[in-house]
Amino acid sequence: MTVTARFAPSPTGTLHVGNLRTALHNWMFARANGGRFLLRIDDTDRARSEERHVDSIRADLAWLGLVPDGEERQSSRFDRYEARFAELVAAGRVYPAYETAQELELKRKVLLGRGLPPVYDRAALALSDAERAAFEAEGRAPHWRFRLDHDAGIEWDDLVRGHQRFDPKTMSDPVVRRADGSWLYLFPSVVDDVDMAITHVVRGEDHVSNTATQLQMFDALGSGSPAFAHEALLTGSEGKLSKRLGSLGVDHFRDAGIEPQALVALLARIGTSDPVEPHVDPALLIAGFDFARFGRAPARFDEVELAQLNTRIVHQLGFDAVAARLPDGMTPEGWDAIRPNLSTISEAADWWHVVEGPVDAADMSDEDRAYLGQAAEAAAAIDWSGDPWHALTGALKEATGRKGKALFLPLRLALTGRAHGPDMAALLPLIGKDRALARLAAVG
Ligand code: GLU
Repeated sequence: MTVTARFAPSPTGTLHVGNLRTALHNWMFARANGGRFLLRIDDTDRARSEERHVDSIRADLAWLGLVPDGEERQSSRFDRYEARFAELVAAGRVYPAYETAQELELKRKVLLGRGLPPVYDRAALALSDAERAAFEAEGRAPHWRFRLDHDAGIEWDDLVRGHQRFDPKTMSDPVVRRADGSWLYLFPSVVDDVDMAITHVVRGEDHVSNTATQLQMFDALGSGSPAFAHEALLTGSEGKLSKRLGSLGVDHFRDAGIEPQALVALLARIGTSDPVEPHVDPALLIAGFDFARFGRAPARFDEVELAQLNTRIVHQLGFDAVAARLPDGMTPEGWDAIRPNLSTISEAADWWHVVEGPVDAADMSDEDRAYLGQAAEAAAAIDWSGDPWHALTGALKEATGRKGKALFLPLRLALTGRAHGPDMAALLPLIGKDRALARLAAVG
């Protein structure tokens, strides 16, 4: 049996970081098991689904490097849902109910007022044919509920949460179809999971009670059910479920200079017993992927940790991987020299500007000016083909007796206009003899 997982977003908005994590884990699990990863667009809600969101979902997955092995759309499968629905209606597992939203709300309030759980009372199951006909004659269209089997216990071994048990008597028969004929998510999802031979459903723990009812739907459709992994949700660094997380998507991270590899490395590991590590190659993350390593406590998503991880990822990226995003003319040697100083790739432009110039003239004491005058002369005399920085500082050390900061800092200031920056030994050959002489002479 081929492991088959699916990521099933509703295209009613852009994906947020919690969705991205779910997508990633589905993909990793499929890849770790030589299986398939499907993208299923849950667009049964015609009014709220938008094509631009479908496009952004695809683009976001592509940015993360999660390539689906296939894409399905619920909106192209309505005939199929209709057929399977008709089977359940014929079998008495789905029944029409005529209560209005207000009537249902009143029932809820009465039960809650008596201190009872607000479970639907199944009044609609008790209607006679004549009563139903009377409702229809009134112009009331029914919505449809799935009749839970109260005698069949609901249990499963969740890959993250362990053994789960629900008593169907404590649950309302879920509405699967609205009075206008539109579908709620629960039933089409089960039909799809059966037809697409889904072996593992990986999703957030907010779906646990849905799973309880869906397990009976798999059964009612005569199918075995997939395995389930319900992951603890993400919380912000402050330890609370934050609104902010719900608004953080790929655009935000890209704009902040976060590399997809950094986001993948973080989302792969938070909430698990494995350390967060700056792996550029997802194969290293996939190799150890195991739901048994996921905890039940919420996973903490910390943007500071992400930024730090990003820095460590940027330091590993090769020139070819980033060339298209570097300033014109920047060379592989330039990238290698500047890379250790970057937290984001976009900062490379700033340092490349320091190489190409012009740089700001630094404020200097008279003594340092005199020193830089000497430096300009020394720079004209050294061999630039090898290691000009060590040649220059070696000559100046000998000639002036300066050492440490007094030796290096005025040179760095004159040559780059800044007090900090990439290793001068790597930078000076890029600045080159002509520009270096001009910059030293300008101060000295
Ligand atoms: N469309 C559902 C959601 O976004 C899918 C849940 C599932 O994975 O079954 O919550």
